[in-house]
This record gives sequence, C-alpha cells and structure tokens, in this order.
Amino acid sequence: MIQETMTYVCRVCRSTNIVKNGTNHCGNAQYHCKDCGTYRVLIPKQAYSETEQQTALRACLERCSLRGVARIFAMARPTIVAWLKVHVQNLPDVKETLLPATPDDVLELDEMWSFVRKKDQARWLWTAMCRRTRQIVAFAIGDRSKATCLRLWQAIPYEYKHCHTFGDFWHAYHYVFPAETHHCVGKETGETAYMERWNNTLRQRVGRYVRQTLSFSKSDESHEMVTKWFIVQYNLGLSLTI
Ligand SMILES: [Zn+2]
Repeated sequence: MIQETMTYVCRVCRSTNIVKNGTNHCGNAQYHCKDCGTYRVLIPKQAYSETEQQTALRACLERCSLRGVARIFAMARPTIVAWLKVHVQNLPDVKETLLPATPDDVLELDEMWSFVRKKDQARWLWTAMCRRTRQIVAFAIGDRSKATCLRLWQAIPYEYKHCHTFGDFWHAYHYVFPAETHHCVGKETGETAYMERWNNTLRQRVGRYVRQTLSFSKSDESHEMVTKWFIVQYNLGLSLTI
C-alpha cells in the first residue's frame, strides 16, 4: 500500500497552523488560518483556459442567455460577466472596424425597440448601415427622441457624413439629418431593407434582443456592452469576407 500525506499551508502567510472551516456555497472545503486569520478555499480550482473562456463567450452571441451559458459550461455567471467586461473593453471602436467609404455610399437608418429590466423601460437602438458593405457604421441607444437621433448622427464617422441616408417617417430624422441628403421612405420601397434584415439578425443572435423571451438586460451598461460587442464582431466578420 502506498500512502501519501499532504500538508496544506495558508496561501497568504504560508503558515501550517490552519484548520478546516466547512465548505463555501459551492461545496468546496475551506480553511481558516489561525496565524493571519484568513478564510480561503483549501484546494482552489484551476483557472479556466483561454479556449474555455472564448467558447463560453461565443455561446453568448448564439442566442443563449448568460444563465444558459453558465449552465451549459458549469461556470459561475459572475465569472462569465467578468470575462465579457474585459473582452468588450478591449474591443476597437465601431468606426475602427469599418471599410473605407466611397463617394456614392448610401446609409440605411432604423430604430429598434428593446428594453432594460422592465418592458416599460424602453431602450431604442438606432443604427446606420452602409448599404454597400452591410457594416453598421454607427449606433446609439436611448429613447426615441431627437436627442438619441442626434447621438446617432454624431456617431457617424466623418467619411460617411456625406452619404445619402434613408430612414422611415419617424419625425426625429427630419430634424437631425441634413435635408439635402436625407430621404424619408416607407418600408415598402425597400430602401431600408438591409437595415431591417439586420435587426432580425440581431434578434436571432443576441438573447436579450430576442422577442418573447425572459432574457433581458438588467442594466444599461450591459445592454450597451453586448450591443457594441455584437456590432464590432459583425463588422469585423464582414471586413474579412469582402
Ligand atoms: Zn495565514
């Protein structure tokens, strides 16, 4: 018979003067160090690999809710949220993902309803898409007022500002976009068809934009974060294929 004896030491002060201290809420054994007073998990779990992180994050952009991803990969939700925050912070700006504009480029505009926490807390997603490249050149999240429309206009990169724009009859466009280049059109003209189709793509792919589900953003911060994440990776995907 081979028997091994394992001596555990405090991970803070390296003292061996430690005692068992029950389990934490995940069921992992804990210790208490009598020298430095710390309470820690006895055998810490190995950190997740980069591949595991990337796989879990990719699942978030395939319609799965955060809770769903946490269940599939048996990971803690706050862990995934922490990765997500770091990932989105390191993403480039939307304007840095764009292909160069051409003189005859056309932008299609639309605003799409979503909400944060409760259905009566509407957050409209305003987007501008380049018809030629299908990239989202700018977005803004807010109410359906002129103020948010103005933020969309301000977010459009300088090299796309000259473009002819097509939007629906919502009055805010009329006040914000230049009369010489903006056109108000009905859906039946097909002038905003690509933009409307993209709204469907977003609703298919991002759990919190799917209609009639219980997945939704709990905060404006995460709503903005996940929207930007989807747009940047969508734009970058198009940059590679065109
Ligand atoms: Zn200690």
